[in-house]
Amino acid sequence: MGTRETYTEKLACPKCGTTGSAKLEENANPLHRGNRLDRKVIEINGPFQAEPKLDAPIRCAQCDAVVLD
Ligand SMILES: [Zn+2]
Repeated sequence: MGTRETYTEKLACPKCGTTGSAKLEENANPLHRGNRLDRKVIEINGPFQAEPKLDAPIRCAQCDAVVLD
């Protein structure tokens, strides 16, 4: 088991300027030490969407731009 940490990330669409926030969980997986952390979206506030899987990009629901990848 790795270390799990939740945090809130502010979101702002680079294309249309829509703002919101997302609650994310990062799981420091020892098998991937030194690489990027696993990131899971727990909750999204605002007109954004993400697939419910690890490291899925968060997209703007208005213009489909990638807001966080
Ligand atoms: Zn947008």
